[in-house]
Amino acid sequence: MITVTFLGTSGAIPSARRSMPSIALKYDELFLWDCGEGCQREMMRRGLGYGSVKAIFITHLHLDHFLGIFGLIETIRMNTQRESLLIFAPRGFSRIVEEISPSMGWNPSFLDIREMREGELYRGRDYSILGFRVQHQKRAAFGLAFIEDDKNKFNEAKAKGLGLRGRMFREIQEKGEVVVEGKKVLLSEVSRVRKGLKIVYSGDTIPLDSTAEISLGADLLIHDSTFGEDLKDEAVERGHSTAKEAAKIAKKAKAKRLALTHISGRYNAGGQLEEEAREVFADSFVAQDGMEIEVVPEGKKGTDEKGEKEKPGKSK
Ligand SMILES: [Zn+2]
Ligand SMILES: [Zn+2]
Repeated sequence: MITVTFLGTSGAIPSARRSMPSIALKYDELFLWDCGEGCQREMMRRGLGYGSVKAIFITHLHLDHFLGIFGLIETIRMNTQRESLLIFAPRGFSRIVEEISPSMGWNPSFLDIREMREGELYRGRDYSILGFRVQHQKRAAFGLAFIEDDKNKFNEAKAKGLGLRGRMFREIQEKGEVVVEGKKVLLSEVSRVRKGLKIVYSGDTIPLDSTAEISLGADLLIHDSTFGEDLKDEAVERGHSTAKEAAKIAKKAKAKRLALTHISGRYNAGGQLEEEAREVFADSFVAQDGMEIEVVPEGKKGTDEKGEKEKPGKSK
């Protein structure tokens, strides 16, 4: 299970309802995708320990997506025993940190800054976090994907029925087959593949086919949805997407659910955006600050967008 917490769902400027862009992903470790102003306080309010952040990923160098990182670094440095903090950010971020470091008294080695790029950025126990290119105002801008490895689920009764014992289970996983009393048994006969979970975040971007491609079959797509159809021209001009455009990407990707985020202050709770998106992709919802989504493998119970436990059999 992966728990996704929306710490901030606004774009550009905060409002009483929405804080600046930041998403927390909790799996075996805690990750932050963007770190807008006030991010550390939002983490505290949502019961997420800042000291346990494994890595912070900054999608692009617009202030609304990284201003909160300096305060968070300072709090971690002062209040924990940690020796370093891993940060992925586009080129240029290191320069900003160099400039600001003397006034903050940081030991330069405390920050392990790596350049944001396409491809695998972080490899965990059984998952990867990838960066991918998006298009946003002609600057280096990235989206992020959390991709869990596919897993073989054994049908133990069937395997045992075919005579598999003890060490043979390991052997069949490694070689894809095993010989039992002179008879070959294939891995596919005694197991099925469970697709790994996939969560994709577009960052700030215009709608792109490439985002749909990387989001193929995503359990949750979190997409820029700054404007509605009434301000489509503004979306083009400022390198953002409308809710409807985000929904088209989700539909193309055959995603299971779409979370609309980076909501302009003009849309308040976002009812209009949700309606426009749902005309194209029914399983769309507007992310709200503090919303917590449990993403679980198919057949298990997660939470719906209101944070309530889904009842078994409830159609989504
Ligand atoms: Zn932004
Ligand atoms: Zn931006």
